[in-house]
Amino acid sequence: MSHLAIDGGEKVVCRENPDMFAWPIVNREMEAGVLDILRRGAMSQNDVTKRFERGYARWHGVKYALGHNNGTASLEAAMYAVGVRRGDEIIAPSMTYWATCVQALGLGAKVVFADIDPETLCIDPDDIEHRITDKTRAIVLVHYLGIVADMDRICAIARKHNLKIIEDASHAHGSLYHDKMAGTFGDVGCFSLMSSKGFAVGEAGILITDDREIYERAILYGHYIRHDELTDESIRAMAGLPVGGCKYRMHQMSAAVGVAQLKKYPAEMAEIDAAMRYYWSLLKDVPGIRPIQATAPGSSMGAWYFPHAHYDRDCFDGLSVQRFCEALQAEGSKAIPGVNAALHKHPLFSKIDIFGDGHPTNQLSGGRDVSTDPLPVTEGIQERVFGVPWFKHLWKDEIELHAAAVRKVAANYRDLLAGDKHVTAFNGHWGLSTIKT
Ligand SMILES: *Cc1c(COP(=O)(O)O)cnc(C)c1O
Repeated sequence: MSHLAIDGGEKVVCRENPDMFAWPIVNREMEAGVLDILRRGAMSQNDVTKRFERGYARWHGVKYALGHNNGTASLEAAMYAVGVRRGDEIIAPSMTYWATCVQALGLGAKVVFADIDPETLCIDPDDIEHRITDKTRAIVLVHYLGIVADMDRICAIARKHNLKIIEDASHAHGSLYHDKMAGTFGDVGCFSLMSSKGFAVGEAGILITDDREIYERAILYGHYIRHDELTDESIRAMAGLPVGGCKYRMHQMSAAVGVAQLKKYPAEMAEIDAAMRYYWSLLKDVPGIRPIQATAPGSSMGAWYFPHAHYDRDCFDGLSVQRFCEALQAEGSKAIPGVNAALHKHPLFSKIDIFGDGHPTNQLSGGRDVSTDPLPVTEGIQERVFGVPWFKHLWKDEIELHAAAVRKVAANYRDLLAGDKHVTAFNGHWGLSTIKT
């Protein structure tokens, strides 16, 4: 048996081409596009942004796309656009990056959290309906880690209760479900396009919809220089100033990157998909470790944003996922225990009075309290998953080394049991910003 690197043995991943993980992949067209904007002094104009929007909408087969300065803003605009307002409630998963839902508080609405499915880590359709009240306006769901949520069932629930659906597809650019693209199932889809996401253009976001009213309300909310596009009379009557006091225009240097990205992203997605599948094919027979991956018919993983593994500690005599990851890191492979921290555990949703109202901002009517409402799957997930390398190229030799590192640690896990100090549960991360793939 080989000696684990964490105990002084030889590291498995002994060489690495830094381009394997470099992201986004920058090409000449991006550079030229950015320089053009810079030299024209067109940073705050919107000719290139509109071109990018048309391309993004066409790619998704939808009528409208509206660029934003980040994904957070696009989600807030979507909430306003579907009518989320003071006193309303939205239902969202707790297992996500905060920008899926925190903006609702600023709009005067409350967030009610639902649990996730332990296989997909997306919102569990069985945990939604009993949380619906006469105040519920929308379900804001996430296609987490590139997997499209169970849209058949979620759309049926929304129809039955007359709720709006906002899809946060920030992890799932190009992901499919029944051969249909993430972001096109609900009333409106929003995407972060920031630089570590799958479709990366810089600090930017985009909203897509087929609903003219949603599109116009989003323009009304955060894009006052585009109020000339408003056609609905009641919306146009408010034109001139951004009604929410928000200016969410996309930076044109990002839009220029986006125009170029649209051309090359499908090929990049295909290569990443081949690389990730190759990695997982090499680990098929390792008990206790398997991919977090879409399995619904006609589904795909897009660019496999932030790929993770399921980790079954029972297969390793209870070895913590942290200790497993430490050993894997020592072998030279990326391994990040857990995933986003559960939002409902943060005092923002239970104790904090943001606006000085004399009670917690997210306090629900009828004495309901999200913070004490347990979400057992969400709360237990940190010990059962870890982040794996996000390969950008199908460079088999290098992928084989990373897979060999996992196989070595898994085969020698007994050597790690004595040094396992991680007896208490840990809570994951509030954001993805410290994570390097
Ligand atoms: C990144 C992200 C956002 C926010 O996007 P920004 O562009 O960073 O503002 C929203 N939701 C999810 C799930 C994300 O991962």
